[in-house]
Parts: sequence; structure tokens; C-alpha cells
Amino acid sequence: MARTRPRPLVAGNWKMNGLRTSIAELKRIIAGAKKLTDRADILVCPPATVLASFAAAAHGSLVAVGGQDCHSQPSGAHTGNISAEMLRDAGASAVILGHSERRMDHQESDALVQTKTAAAWRAGLLPIVCIGETKEERDAGATLSRIERQIDESLPPALEGDLVIAYEPVWAIGTGVTPTSADVAQVHALIRARLADRYGGKGEAIRILYGGSVKPGNAMELMRVENVDGALVGGASLKADEFLAIAGVYG
Ligand code: PEP
Repeated sequence: MARTRPRPLVAGNWKMNGLRTSIAELKRIIAGAKKLTDRADILVCPPATVLASFAAAAHGSLVAVGGQDCHSQPSGAHTGNISAEMLRDAGASAVILGHSERRMDHQESDALVQTKTAAAWRAGLLPIVCIGETKEERDAGATLSRIERQIDESLPPALEGDLVIAYEPVWAIGTGVTPTSADVAQVHALIRARLADRYGGKGEAIRILYGGSVKPGNAMELMRVENVDGALVGGASLKADEFLAIAGVYG
């Protein structure tokens, strides 16, 4: 039986980009989202410094706001860190976790990502857990085993809330290079099967996003792939017209 596709999610990861003045771009996204047919969830994840003002501006609109990382503890002596509860308090409804840039820049392990996923649930946030192979792993033919290991070790054993997975091949992030549709289909099918093994029937409803150089020109082809339930967009999410064109794939 064909799987019923969940409502897609198009999420923008602004990374370390955006000042208070960037709220003008968010407002363009909010205005443009009104013209879409509301067939996809739209999320913008700006830097934490502007999260509260972005959340206030987006309140009551079709655009939700999320964080880019959180600490596993709710509060305490962790200088420079931000808890899931703080993100929630600032108006976030979701948080990106285990992005490859955090795994590389901050040596985040799968085990740590797992504790952060539990923290997101504890605070009532939607965790978007990023997984993906490096170029070296791909060249060594280790893509599928890497993905399996990341799922097994980055995700809590029991599903205690809504969950989104973002498959982001590290070599596709910010490079303008994307995998073929067949490659994306193969990895997303593996992720889907692994989620079903782990979480039973509930694994079917977990959205699996594709991320890595999604642009208006390739979004349609990538979003049509079986088991692709939306996109995690980096560079192209910084420009309202490009981000809206990607979300517009869903009508
Ligand atoms: C990302 O960093 O999550 C990402 C997908 O970046 P880009 O779209 O710029 O490749």
C-alpha cells in the first residue's frame, strides 16, 4: 500500500547570518507565505540573538520559528549555551540538532545529539535531527552504513514526541552539488525502513527532509522523490524570494 505522505516541511537554516535588521527579510517571507496554498509547514531558524523578535513578528502567521541547536540540560553552569526551554521561551517551536557544522565545529557526537533530541521533547520543541555522510565516507562506499549508525545512535530508543529527520550529505551542503534523485531515494528509503524498525508504524509519519544545495531550480525534482517530505534549506533560505520559490513547490 502506498504511504500517505505527511504534510511537508520547508525549513530555513540561517546559520550564523542575520542581524536585527534582517527581520525585513522574515517579513517578506511571512507576506509571501500568505500567497502559498498552505500545503506545507514553513519554518525559519535564525540565530538565537534574533529569535524572540522573529517569533514575535511571525506570531499568528503561517511561518514558525526555530533554533539551530540546544543544550541537553534545562539550565545550569554551561556558559554560552542555550537550553531547549530557553528556545521555547523565546518563541521557538522547533530546533535543528546535529547539523554537520556543529558535529564538525563542536565535535558533537551521535550520543550527544541523542540527549539533545530528548531535551527538545522535554521542552515541547520539534527536533529536526540532521544526519549525512561526508565525501570520504561516500567515496569509501560507506554512505548507507554511516546513515544507519547515525540513526541508531542519534535517536532516542522510544519516540516521545514528533520528530523530523534531515538527510544532508555533508558534501552537498553549500557546494551547489546535489546527489541524484536515485541516490536520494535510496538513502531516504533506508532511513524510512530504519525508522519503522525502531518505532514501528509511527516511523511512517516521521518527516524526512532532504538538505544540501536545495535551490528554486532543483527543488521540484528533489521534493518529488519518494520519502522526501520537505527540505532543509541553508543559503537559499536567506533570500525571501528563493526560499518562497522552494516552498512554492508544494503549491
Ligand atoms: C544546511 O546547511 O542545512 C544546508 C542545507 O545548506 P545549503 O542549502 O546552503 O547547502
